[in-house]
Amino acid sequence: MRLTVNAYHCRACRSEAGHVVLDLGDQPACDYFPPYDNPGPDPVYPLQMWLCSHCGLAQLLDDPTVPEEPRGTEPAALVAQAVDAVARVATAGLLPAGARVAEYGSPHGGSWLQLLASRGLKPVDGMAEADVIVDCFGMMHAADQSAALAERAARLMPGGVLLVQYHSLETIIRQGQWNALRHGHYAYYSTTALSAMLVNVGFSPCRAWHFDLYGGTVLLAASRDIDSGALDETVRAVLASEARTGVRDPDVLRGLQQAVQAKAAALNDWLFKSAAAGRTVLGYGAASRAVALLRKAGVDVDLLPAVADASPAKRGLRMPGTNIPVISPSELTARRPDEVALFVSDLMAEVRASYPGIEAGGGRWVDADALGSA
Ligand SMILES: [Zn+2]
Repeated sequence: MRLTVNAYHCRACRSEAGHVVLDLGDQPACDYFPPYDNPGPDPVYPLQMWLCSHCGLAQLLDDPTVPEEPRGTEPAALVAQAVDAVARVATAGLLPAGARVAEYGSPHGGSWLQLLASRGLKPVDGMAEADVIVDCFGMMHAADQSAALAERAARLMPGGVLLVQYHSLETIIRQGQWNALRHGHYAYYSTTALSAMLVNVGFSPCRAWHFDLYGGTVLLAASRDIDSGALDETVRAVLASEARTGVRDPDVLRGLQQAVQAKAAALNDWLFKSAAAGRTVLGYGAASRAVALLRKAGVDVDLLPAVADASPAKRGLRMPGTNIPVISPSELTARRPDEVALFVSDLMAEVRASYPGIEAGGGRWVDADALGSA
């Protein structure tokens, strides 16, 4: 049964007051690419972001418990950022050698424990208490946000520090990253909302660092009120910037809905016109982030006959929630498409260099992310 907004309680503060600010409709689990010969239909679940009016936490509305596929390899950007983050926190004096450390990790990888151990910190066993608790993209995967934070707070020794890293809601808003909304990701933190959650467990934020990862990632250090001094300038700066952006304003967040409507309409319109004109359009980049866009745009195999991907692991599969097969880059070139819709726009230079046959054959690459942008 589908939850109604009236029956919904904030995952952090239990308030019933809030707004649906982004609705991507019914979506399949975007990490699960079914075999092409599995006819489906794939199970789909509502995918909506709700903004709490009381504490300001943006969150996943429904909770269909869609399993996430663990990633086999850690992206290089994540590994490099961890090295940078640990160095910056150590410089601030928050990672003393000999401190006991506990980590709440992400199912997508990115552990800091080895880096911390090499600085002389001592990982604790099981659920033991610790002087340093690290949560790197971990807590967003907890359906019950208040319980998850309470557990972390309870394990922190007196004088200890809690480090929470998250893809910032301000980034999502400013860069129109509507496809950050995913099943299994229950919370989309602003520093404003996370600070309110921390207050509820007797903690205060004491330091913030900004990283370029995912377009803008924040690492927030927090400690018990009794251990913390005045609000640090770095935290104050983030809170001020978020207030200017309007991270608690449902109308500001609804800009994400307008962004996805425009992109979906533009993609559908372009593919429809290409088909009517007899042009062959194929896709490139069988990324999970393309799934919601294709579904929202109502695009299936009739408008987009195939999507190519460099990963051999995705051959013989299809895009979730559609009948679009995943093909190899060599098959893409062999089919001599007139246009190739690129669903991972930061790969534009790379694919043009790697697959010169597309343009040599008279085709052109089109940035699907840029369609519908003003
Ligand atoms: Zn709330």
